[in-house]
Amino acid sequence: MKVTEHIKQAKDTLISFEILPPLKGKTINSIYDHLDPLMEFKPSYINVTYHRSEHVFKKKADGVFEKVEVRKRPGTVGICAAIMNYYHVDAVPHLICGGFSKRETEDALIDLNFIGVDNVLVLRGDAAKNETFFEPEPEGHRFALDLLKQVTNLNNGIYLEEDIRDGFRTKFDIGVAGYPEKHFEAPNMDTDLTYLKAKVDAGADYIVTQMFFDNQKYFEFVKKCRDHGIEVPIIPGLKPITNKKQLSVIPRTFHVDIPAHLSDEILKCKEDKEVELVGTEWLLQQSRELKKAGVPVLHYYTLGKPKVIWNVVKEIV
Ligand SMILES: Cc1cc2nc3c(=O)[nH]c(=O)nc-3n(C[C@H](O)[C@H](O)[C@H](O)COP(=O)(O)OP(=O)(O)OC[C@H]3O[C@@H](n4cnc5c(N)ncnc54)[C@H](O)[C@@H]3O)c2cc1C
Repeated sequence: MKVTEHIKQAKDTLISFEILPPLKGKTINSIYDHLDPLMEFKPSYINVTYHRSEHVFKKKADGVFEKVEVRKRPGTVGICAAIMNYYHVDAVPHLICGGFSKRETEDALIDLNFIGVDNVLVLRGDAAKNETFFEPEPEGHRFALDLLKQVTNLNNGIYLEEDIRDGFRTKFDIGVAGYPEKHFEAPNMDTDLTYLKAKVDAGADYIVTQMFFDNQKYFEFVKKCRDHGIEVPIIPGLKPITNKKQLSVIPRTFHVDIPAHLSDEILKCKEDKEVELVGTEWLLQQSRELKKAGVPVLHYYTLGKPKVIWNVVKEIV
């Protein structure tokens, strides 16, 4: 079922989770161990992130360095199939521009369609670790908007091969990313919203936000989107803070602010166990307020912290 169908049919705020594929070398059991306890909350769907390949230099026996391509977290498509088979819950794979040619993207979309996936979250992806700015593949997409157009083309039976103009029409429900605190490369919020509107006009069915720790930022973002004529559901993305290091890692990585009240409380903690309690309580208060405001879905980035998410969600369902 599509994410937007879940939202249309819902009588109350829904719950969804986001997971990362395990590192290469680990088994699918690490996904089940992670999700098993969370399934009692009957999530409407589960997102699975996609990770681009990276280039690293490896020293060969003769001492010469060789450039090799590695993908540390493969398996997005397989995990989606596993989730749907094992839990009978809809999976939402992320699809990224970075590291993929249009042809590889088309093949991935066909695979996803064949295993019964009805949803994709379409993203650009970040710059590769060894690059300052995002660079598309020679035959790939530069912006999420271009990737989105490829998905809508497939939904209209238009494939890359010139002679397939009336092929099987996929029916992917398409989500895109939105940034309550602005995407870090956008010159200003207005321009960022103009590009977000372009994604919606091109066929995005809903928006999932970057994490935020101040609900006011989300409420203001929704208002600005509506003022820009963006009418689709806007799903808040939520993440707990569980250790002191995140006070600098999260702003640096995700370009979001941590409110002073929260950082002050965390700085008072002597050990990370206490930080986890503060982070859990903060996330719970955020979730309660958002639910009261009638958001369509509470979307949790579970990222290795299923117990914290469990402690929060059990208080709000
Ligand atoms: C909910 C969520 C899930 C994510 N999941 C993943 C994941 O699984 N894997 C992963 O690698 N990354 C993931 N990311 C990170 C995401 O890929 C990065 O934030 C990336 O930097 C931007 O992606 P985007 O889809 O918002 O890009 P875009 O919508 O393409 O926007 C990127 C930048 O370009 C600007 N822009 C857009 N269109 C144009 C245009 N036509 N001309 C000029 N500028 C333009 C925008 O304002 C913005 O500054 C996720 C982010 C979110 C919020």
